[in-house]
Amino acid sequence: TAGLDVMQIRKDFPILQQKVHGKPLVYLDNGATTQKPQVVIDAEARYYEVYNSNVHRGVHHLSQVATDAYEKARHIVAGYINAAHSHEIIFTKGTTDGINLVANTMSRRFLKAGDSVIISSMEHHSNIVPWQMACEESGATLKVIPINERGELLMDAFEAMLDDSVKIVAVTYVSNTMGTINPVQDIITLAHARNIPVLLDAAQAIQHISIDVQALQPDFLAFSGHKIYGPTGTGVLYGTTEWLQKLPPYQGGGDMIKTVTFAKTIYNELPYKFEAGTPNIAGSIAMGTAIEYLQKTGIDKIQHWEEQLLTYAMQELRQIDGIRFIGDAANRSGAISFLVHNIHPFDMGELLDQQGIAVRTGHHCTEPLMDLFKIPGTVRASLSFYNTMEEIDKLVAGVKRAASMLL
Ligand code: PMP
Repeated sequence: TAGLDVMQIRKDFPILQQKVHGKPLVYLDNGATTQKPQVVIDAEARYYEVYNSNVHRGVHHLSQVATDAYEKARHIVAGYINAAHSHEIIFTKGTTDGINLVANTMSRRFLKAGDSVIISSMEHHSNIVPWQMACEESGATLKVIPINERGELLMDAFEAMLDDSVKIVAVTYVSNTMGTINPVQDIITLAHARNIPVLLDAAQAIQHISIDVQALQPDFLAFSGHKIYGPTGTGVLYGTTEWLQKLPPYQGGGDMIKTVTFAKTIYNELPYKFEAGTPNIAGSIAMGTAIEYLQKTGIDKIQHWEEQLLTYAMQELRQIDGIRFIGDAANRSGAISFLVHNIHPFDMGELLDQQGIAVRTGHHCTEPLMDLFKIPGTVRASLSFYNTMEEIDKLVAGVKRAASMLL
């Protein structure tokens, strides 16, 4: 089978055609957010131009068109991750929102003093803080899976942490800072053997790795639309029917109810029980379009090209004098974090920016991980299938050039 025609694909993304500081933009900050193809921008605009209307409310024509488009997006998401039912797809504002939904409702119904919650050392703040809040409210204890110096989870330690006190395991599928792909299948199998549910933070996995929730069997899986070529302010929480029925509603309001009296409210069925208020209709529809775009392009082709880019980038960066990778896992995807000699990541980032190269510098919302490695931050390059080998060459040349100026 033929690979991706990357030059053709790049034409679908208007933003990639621009220059920054007089240099062609080399966008390597895809872990922070991905760029949007024209079809996604058009889908969002079309809603407002042609059928802007509230969903699930009106009998009138436009409301039905909007509702159909919104529910079609839910079907597209369900198909993409192979959910058994589209009511297992809850539209959210993003990964953060989805994790907060689970942490909040879980702690209200299922956590008490003496219980514990397991996360890992490489979590994004959005998969740490909601659990800290849940533990604070309920009196449960937060436990953290350690990692080795390559940035890989210590699975023996994880297994030893699993006891009757553990009420949920919440881990990231792929590290946003180091690119480590965690052995999520093993994590789920070990947890399920003790009837412990697992939440996967798929914010950095969903755009790189094909995910089949019926095969993998996470109890919850959260991701953001804006990291999968869709709009900001959109996202998905997948949950099994069993768990979504067991959890109480997150927020109260319109749409999440069946009947309301001042004496008692009957909650709506799934997925509406968790979608209080007018949602981001245009955004969710456009997120569906983004997923269709990926499916049309071919997830396998995307994965294959991104692996080639990553392997080449690691191989070329490794030759740079004084480079140190933060996270050097055997199994990885998406992001590469590094430092060169004692150069501050911010200085490196600024000099790369002057060459039109967009990378992220800092702690990447993983401060505890930075503390473990005893560093203030890293330079992070994160890849998408619209990146080219030439762009990797530019990054490597840019890092060398910056290093020669700063050392
Ligand atoms: N988890 C991971 C692993 C992430 O990379 C991010 C975004 N950087 C998030 C959670 C939070 O996503 P959002 O800000 O879109 O809610």
